[in-house]
Amino acid sequence: MTNPLLKFDGLPDFKNIDASHVVPAVETILEDSREALQQVESCDTRDWEHIVKPLDELSRKLGCVWGPVNHLLYTRSDEKLRQAHQKVQGEIVNFSLEYSQSKKLYEAYKHIAETQKDQLSPSQKRILETNIRDAELSGIALSGQDKERFNDISRELTKLSTTFSNNVLDATKSFELVLENKEDIDGLPSSFLAFASQSYAQANPDNKQVTPEQGPWRVTLDIPSYVPFMQHATNRSLRKKLNKEFSTRASKGTFDNSPLISKILKLRKEKAQLLGFDSFASLSVTRKMASKVASVDKLLEELRSASFNAAQDELSELKQFAKNCGYKEELELWDVSFWTERMREKKFNFTDEDLKPYFPLPNVLKGLFSLVEQIFDIKVTEADGEASVWNDDVRFFHINDQGGERIASFFLDPYNRPENKRGGAWMDSCVDRGSFTSGHKTPVAYLVCNSTPPVGETPSLMSFREVETLFHEFGHGLQHMLTKIDEPQVSGINGVEWDAVELPSQFMENWCYHKKTLLGLAKHYQTGEVLPDELFEKLSAARNYMAANQMLRQIRFAMTDIELHHRYEPGDDPQPVFDIAYAISKTTSVIEPSPDDRMLCSFSHIFAGGYAAGYYSYKWAEVLSADAFAAFEEAGLDDAKNVTRIGHKFRDTVLALGGSQHPMEVFKEFRGREPSTEALLIHAGLVNS
Ligand code: ZN
Repeated sequence: MTNPLLKFDGLPDFKNIDASHVVPAVETILEDSREALQQVESCDTRDWEHIVKPLDELSRKLGCVWGPVNHLLYTRSDEKLRQAHQKVQGEIVNFSLEYSQSKKLYEAYKHIAETQKDQLSPSQKRILETNIRDAELSGIALSGQDKERFNDISRELTKLSTTFSNNVLDATKSFELVLENKEDIDGLPSSFLAFASQSYAQANPDNKQVTPEQGPWRVTLDIPSYVPFMQHATNRSLRKKLNKEFSTRASKGTFDNSPLISKILKLRKEKAQLLGFDSFASLSVTRKMASKVASVDKLLEELRSASFNAAQDELSELKQFAKNCGYKEELELWDVSFWTERMREKKFNFTDEDLKPYFPLPNVLKGLFSLVEQIFDIKVTEADGEASVWNDDVRFFHINDQGGERIASFFLDPYNRPENKRGGAWMDSCVDRGSFTSGHKTPVAYLVCNSTPPVGETPSLMSFREVETLFHEFGHGLQHMLTKIDEPQVSGINGVEWDAVELPSQFMENWCYHKKTLLGLAKHYQTGEVLPDELFEKLSAARNYMAANQMLRQIRFAMTDIELHHRYEPGDDPQPVFDIAYAISKTTSVIEPSPDDRMLCSFSHIFAGGYAAGYYSYKWAEVLSADAFAAFEEAGLDDAKNVTRIGHKFRDTVLALGGSQHPMEVFKEFRGREPSTEALLIHAGLVNS
């Protein structure tokens, strides 16, 4: 009767967890959790000790079961596990809804916040405020007709989002361009032709004569097909055709999203008004670092005005380059990707393959560890064998402070395993730091990457992008592990507003472009030769290639998103929405935009995902991380003593405080002022330092 998933102290016993353990463990823990929740709800003593503490323990224990199940689903998946997961997932969701929408808890939080102010620490106050606010945003304080209307809107919006994203998928699927003539595939790399012929073969299983060399080739509007085609196909009229199809996806016929856009915007506005906000954007920013729509507007306009002229210069250079190559037409929307790639090849003639031999994983790890040891005064030590792991390649490490005391631990799952591991890279919590009724816990993180595994004698050789990704995830990990907060709801990455959560991760990426750091870890795996200066310079320059145009593109999306969710008064006719998008394009694009563009009809991020009135977060986070890194630059990146001094400050503020204070306060404590866009503009080469 021992179920390894019902283990509530120490680390999960990954080696012994089996799919058959999932359902019984989840049933048991849900039963216990419901009982614990009811006990808290009916408790007469409404104070921190009797309400919040037991709930923290409840969440922790639930996490001990459900955390490893999810983790294994991503890293050691099989059919049995998927089925078991699916079987109980709905129950978990139901329970979290009961929990988060409990009126009794909401009232208990309000009671504690109002009557026991003096006994509460600042982080406890913030936890209560956040819980009360989130409950209110889920409509808990509404009653009667308003409540009914609110629930109807929420249900309707969920349905509309699903239909919106289905339409995008179906519209994308409904288009194909089949190529059979050699002149139509001119310029396309062989890897693309292999991909496109395979796509044709899959769509036409009866045709047995398909080859990468002879075709036919099938091009679609999926990103892995569309983007390389636009970058490499020399046939201009085909590029034009494909671009038109792409930018009008889901805007006509069976899969037309235009009427849905109007409906979604209208309902969101009504929902916001029911909760007492003037617009959906105002609602959205109350849960974010930005706090006010005006702050978002200001940031976007600063970046836009600083980028526009530089983007024009980039375009002139591109036009000149195309002309020098013998191109005689005007550069149009469907030409930009193509010529951007040609100029990139000319300027930075290196590939991933040229760099990989300089980045064997063991060296990269050594370099990363010695960097964080220096900046943050910690020690990373190998601890393989001290934890049960889900795969033999998984490594385990401890982080100690200078006095030798254990602060945290982490797992590193470095390699890609397409057979049972999800793609991409991520950091997740295994154990949250906190003082629980069951004792104090030190944090443990999962760091998961997808680098190429070693082959025979050859170690894992990483692409530069993979090195950046490792640094990025390690940055998230540092915030999780170096926290000093003992309230689990706001320790580490918990409770950090999501427009601020990428600060430590993008901050760490910056170090990959610091020459001394990078050359310190980039050594050829066979010869030991350090990455040549010339390659480093190209790598640095490539980072800012066409940076202003890229910046404008993101700003265009962010500005349109805010405009539609704030100032625009939604009506039934979708045309004004497209007119707004066009007007914004005029100020955020240096190439003449098309009034027929319907990119909004496939903008799932804001109409079907969580980025509504939040698309700006990408830029917001970049501003924060660049500005934080600039504090180190100002102190002198090669000045070890100063770097450590600023590193301590970063550790004591951004990394230590987690979600225990408003992120603006945390940032100000680190930087001594509010964030400025200047550093990002300097890093992107858009203003001079
Ligand atoms: Zn991230």
